Amino acid sequence: MPVCDICNASMSFDDGYSITTKDVVLSTYYWEQALRGGFAGIHEQDPNGGEQLMQYIEQQAAQHAGWLVCEGCSKPLRFDRARARQLSEQQQSPPEAGPVAPRDVARYAAEAWKNLYGSEPRMTKFSDLIVGIDRDLKDVSVLRPDECERENK
Ligand SMILES: [Zn+2]
Repeated sequence: MPVCDICNASMSFDDGYSITTKDVVLSTYYWEQALRGGFAGIHEQDPNGGEQLMQYIEQQAAQHAGWLVCEGCSKPLRFDRARARQLSEQQQSPPEAGPVAPRDVARYAAEAWKNLYGSEPRMTKFSDLIVGIDRDLKDVSVLRPDECERENK
């Protein structure tokens, strides 16, 4: 039985949505779920956040595969629901699935962190970007892994 890639609940393809990394990681909802669930240890280990969160941002932004999400997790996200349901029923990933630039993801993770823990995480790499929280989403770019590497240095 498939499970939701965000909350890990068992689900069926007929009730799911097949969406892209961009649809998932460019949302505060996803990061709040992640920080409450699988990534909860980050804050426990380092209440100022930062280094480990950046690693997760890079790791999640780099997901090439499509994401399967359940009805509950689909609601706070924005995507074409009819199309995503059809792809899920067919057990297919969206053809445009692929990684996004970590710098575009960072502000959502930072916002979720702040909502949960009350203060901004300390992230040396992305700190300049988190200030620009009104960046236009249309700027979101898909980078090759070597470009990500370069950007992050
Ligand atoms: Zn879910």
